[in-house]
Amino acid sequence: MSLLVVGSMAFDSIRSPFGEVEKVVGGSATYFSLAASYLAPVRLVSVVGTDFPAHTIRMLSARSIDTRGLKVADGETFRWKGYYEYDLNTAHTVETELNVFRDFAPVLPEEYRDTPYVFLGNIDPRIQMDMLSQVRNPKLVALDTMNYWIENSPGPLREAIGKADIVIFNESELREISGEYNLVKAARAVMSWGPTRVVIKRGEYGVLHLSDGAMFAAPAYPLETIFDPTGAGDSFAGGFMGYLASRNGSDPGEMDYRLATMFGSAIASFTVEAFSTERLENLSPGDIASRVDAFRALTEFRV
Ligand code: AMP
Repeated sequence: MSLLVVGSMAFDSIRSPFGEVEKVVGGSATYFSLAASYLAPVRLVSVVGTDFPAHTIRMLSARSIDTRGLKVADGETFRWKGYYEYDLNTAHTVETELNVFRDFAPVLPEEYRDTPYVFLGNIDPRIQMDMLSQVRNPKLVALDTMNYWIENSPGPLREAIGKADIVIFNESELREISGEYNLVKAARAVMSWGPTRVVIKRGEYGVLHLSDGAMFAAPAYPLETIFDPTGAGDSFAGGFMGYLASRNGSDPGEMDYRLATMFGSAIASFTVEAFSTERLENLSPGDIASRVDAFRALTEFRV
C-alpha cells in the first residue's frame, strides 16, 4: 500500500566531532522517503527552490517515490544549519531559513487523496494539517516535529497532534511538548490529546514505544562507525511506516508495530554511517534484512 509524506526538503550544513559538511541535501521528507522506499511506494509532498539539484529529484523518482507532489518554486530551498557535540543524541540548531516554505500551501494531486498511510513529517504544523485535510479517510496517520515548531507554533502543533494516531518524537521533544520529564507520564499526557501510540526516539539508547496496553523497548544498534546522526529520526520513521504500509492491509497489531520499530531502527542505523543521504541511497534489501537479524541476535536470551 502507498504511503504519503509531507515534510521538509533542505540544504543542511552540519558539524559533528567527525567532520563538517556545507549545503548537503537533507530534510525530513527526503530522509523519510528514501528510507520508506525500500519497503513501500511513497508519494512525496514538499517544496524546493530552483537551486535544488535536479539530479536529486531524478534519484528519488528512480526509486519507488512519486514526486508529482513536489513543487519547485521560485526562490531558495529551506536551509538548516546545526552541530553535534560528542553527545550525538542532541542536535543544536544554529540557523533555520524557511525560504520557499514560508508561502507553501500543499495541493495534493488527485491520485494522492486516497493514500491509506500518511506521515506528517517535521515541518510547519499548519502545512501538516493542510495536507491531512486533503486526504480522504486515511487508515493511519503518524506525526513528527521538532523544537523549532514546538516553540514557534505550539497551538497549531497541538491541533495537528490531536489528529494523529501515532506520534514519533525524540525524548527532548516529548518532554518539551508535554511539560513532563518522566517519559511514561509525558507519553500518557500526549495520548490524552488523541494519539493512541507514542514512539520515543532515544538516539544511541534506542526506542521506547508506548500504547494504552503495552510498552516495548528496542536498543539502537551498537555501531563502530558513526559520522552524522542527522536524518536518523526521519529514516526511523520511514522504515517504521514503510513496514506498516508493506503489510497486507489488515489493521496492524502490537507485534506488527514491534517489527515496524525494528525495520525503522535497522534503516536508521545505516543513515548515521555517512553524512547526508549517501548511505541511505545505496542500501540493498539484503543489507536491511541482515541488520534486522542482527537486532534479533542482540537482544535474544533464553531462560
Ligand atoms: P532528524 O531526522 O530529526 O535528524 O531531522 C533532520 C532533518 O530535519 C535535517 O535534514 C533538517 O533539514 C531538517 N530540519 C531541521 N530543522 C527543521 C525544521 N524546523 N522544520 C523542518 N525540518 C527541519
